[in-house]
Amino acid sequence: MSQVSERIASLAISETLAMSQKSNELKAQGINVINLSVGEPDFNTPDHVKMAAKKAIDDNFSFYSPVPGYLPLRQAICEKLKTENGLNFKPEQIICSNGAKQAVCNAVLSVVNVGDEVIIPAPCWVSYIEMVKLAEGKSIVIHTGIEQDFKIDAAQLEAAITPKTKAIILCSPSNPTGSIYSKNELEALANVLAKHPNIIIISDEIYEHINYVGKHESIAQFENVRERVVIINGVSKAYAMTGWRLGWMAAPQWIASACNKLQGQYTSGPSSIAQKAAEAAYTGSQQCVADMCKAFARRRDLIVKLASEIEGFKVNKPEGAFYLFPECSYYFGKSYNDKVINTSADLAMFLLEEGHVASVGGLAFEAPDYIRFSYATSDENIIEAMKRVKETLAKLK
Ligand code: PMP
Ligand code: GLU
Repeated sequence: MSQVSERIASLAISETLAMSQKSNELKAQGINVINLSVGEPDFNTPDHVKMAAKKAIDDNFSFYSPVPGYLPLRQAICEKLKTENGLNFKPEQIICSNGAKQAVCNAVLSVVNVGDEVIIPAPCWVSYIEMVKLAEGKSIVIHTGIEQDFKIDAAQLEAAITPKTKAIILCSPSNPTGSIYSKNELEALANVLAKHPNIIIISDEIYEHINYVGKHESIAQFENVRERVVIINGVSKAYAMTGWRLGWMAAPQWIASACNKLQGQYTSGPSSIAQKAAEAAYTGSQQCVADMCKAFARRRDLIVKLASEIEGFKVNKPEGAFYLFPECSYYFGKSYNDKVINTSADLAMFLLEEGHVASVGGLAFEAPDYIRFSYATSDENIIEAMKRVKETLAKLK
């Protein structure tokens, strides 16, 4: 008999990781699957970063690090925040974790009490709602569609706020839509939040450097909310380091101290070797970041063009990250042989089994009429994948 706690039993499985796992299983059976499910850069970690990690091993960086991370890394992050974002943080306000995923979860667990409401603009990344569940809070999802470029406005935010609102989780550039809030749009949201001084703003900026329209804008730039913003970031996406597991938060001191305590009892500091690698990433040349962003921009143009030619897809032009999020409800109710498509999860499964392209159904992102394709893969894979998607969907009648 299973004795799993209610807390864990109620959690959903991460759909992004699950679809990627399925795709890998099919690949292991010898099937040529193109994996556009999981969101991770296909590039290798830059050489100077790998060298720093090798040196860290040789220099015996093999001991427990301080819980929030080594001081030189936290200083490098403060320097990055100052020069790139114009923000002043002290190293005590930086907590390094096992990926940005843990940083978001630390932030949620540190501020949310049982029954507190957390506003989550959707489409949203799969893990936010589950993290709020872990904290026994209540997610208040604000739905948006492609017609508003998947972004909430000030009126929607105002309408979602109640006396129980404890936090909001913003994500720009966004996973899964690639949308980016402009400075004016963020300012409008900040002006609403300024009227509600108890709301903590968790600003997930992990895709900061994958931006095709210009300078990154953080809501932390606005003085009327700055003292309540927790910035989440890390090296996974910008430096192609997903497997190194190094993310961080820059937070008000009281939240940083709470996360330090939580992490000290739960996981301790992240890998000492990964920390040395991340320090090299932040202090070394940033050319690699620009080069990867340029490649992602080219692939964005390619996938937007090809997906727009697919019957029944409504496609927007993402401004950042590496996801395309077409509206696909045209196919609901259609079928092929004995397979009926009722949901975008059905569609994703049909594309995987019938077309050998892995994607993720939109329900996992609170957007059931959409489907997510990650285009962090080669131009050839994008071309072949969109060809397969087009041909496979054409079978549905
Ligand atoms: N936030 C968002 C929006 C993401 O897409 C991801 C990707 N996994 C993360 C956080 C977590 O990143 P990391 O690999 O650093 O844990
Ligand atoms: N963030 C990536 C994605 O959305 C990685 C998988 C995950 O951590 O959920 O695909």
